[in-house]
Amino acid sequence: MTRTVTVVASFLVASLGLVAAQQLPPGQIRPRPAEGREPEFPAPNIRDYKPRSTLVVPEHKVPRAKFPVIDIHGHPPRLTGPDVVNTVGDSMSPLNLQVMVNANGTPSAELKPSMDAIAASRYKGRMVMFTSLNLRDVGPGSGQKIAAQLEADVKAGALGVGEIMKSFGLTIRKADGTRLKLDDPELDPVWQKAAELNIPVFLHVADPSEFFKPLDYNNERWLELALYRDRRYQDRSRFPDFEELMAERDRLFAKHPRTTWILAHLGWHAQDLARLGRMFDQYPKLYSEVGAVLYDIGRQPRMAREFFEKYQDRLLFGKDSYQPDEYPYYWRVFETNDEYFDYYRDYHAFWKLYGAGFSDQVLKKLYYQNALKIIPGIPKAGFPAN
Ligand SMILES: [Zn+2]
Repeated sequence: MTRTVTVVASFLVASLGLVAAQQLPPGQIRPRPAEGREPEFPAPNIRDYKPRSTLVVPEHKVPRAKFPVIDIHGHPPRLTGPDVVNTVGDSMSPLNLQVMVNANGTPSAELKPSMDAIAASRYKGRMVMFTSLNLRDVGPGSGQKIAAQLEADVKAGALGVGEIMKSFGLTIRKADGTRLKLDDPELDPVWQKAAELNIPVFLHVADPSEFFKPLDYNNERWLELALYRDRRYQDRSRFPDFEELMAERDRLFAKHPRTTWILAHLGWHAQDLARLGRMFDQYPKLYSEVGAVLYDIGRQPRMAREFFEKYQDRLLFGKDSYQPDEYPYYWRVFETNDEYFDYYRDYHAFWKLYGAGFSDQVLKKLYYQNALKIIPGIPKAGFPAN
């Protein structure tokens, strides 16, 4: 029985390979498995196969960032009191995280209590708040109302908007039941208000493009998609296509050139940095952050170094989920030239990382200078003067 299953499975895999090979552009060659041979032992599944690297090369662990850092994409626990801020702050200091932007999309009503919690903590000035927008049931007049709320929140101390989550674009519906598109004109007053208030809008659009593609053995994110049902966007009757969302996003940026945009996760273009570069060329007030896409930066260290050099004024540091022990992986990719080292999350990437060795100038801009420039409200204490 097991043998039959194995044979059928190998046949399926072989057929899939054949189909894929036929789809390759002319001139491209796919490496062939050992001709006609089958492993003598059952092949391990992709979660079991963890070969230990025999590579011997210098290693430079970086527990603490070389310069103080602003984490633009912080998701601390809910700030129910100063003790929460103290716990987060205690873990920030050894990493050289100077300031965390609370990008939890805090509702307006929670802004004041959150800021009170920060002020009463030992880390006053080390955490700042962004506010959120209520994008539910948008209809005629909503834009003006949301813009007024944004103005009040900024007056109350919010330094930006966001993170506006991927549900905007993917799933949020308007009052009339249709999908709220990213470039819906009803929201124009909100983005204009943000420009007028000189605050950034931190926007997460879609998810990795592979989440929208067929879940087959050629999908780079097969394991993640197999693990997380809620990351599968293959059903076009429920979700727009990846490129449809990108087109809406780009029209939004084109329509609001005076608004400062921070695009989360390198816009999900970290595997195609030239595309993000074209966006930077096209939209002068567009910025982006590196949260949760380290696996793509670390697999192309030479390309990444060139890109970060060229667009050094547009890139920000962000981490996304708050796991203090994961930050040093970022420092190591950015600051060293180390070879072939482990990443922390196997379902993001089944490959290793390499150091991209950014210059001090790039590191300073990425870590804090660009953030201080576009979020003037961040306290300057703790940062070098240049
Ligand atoms: Zn986030």
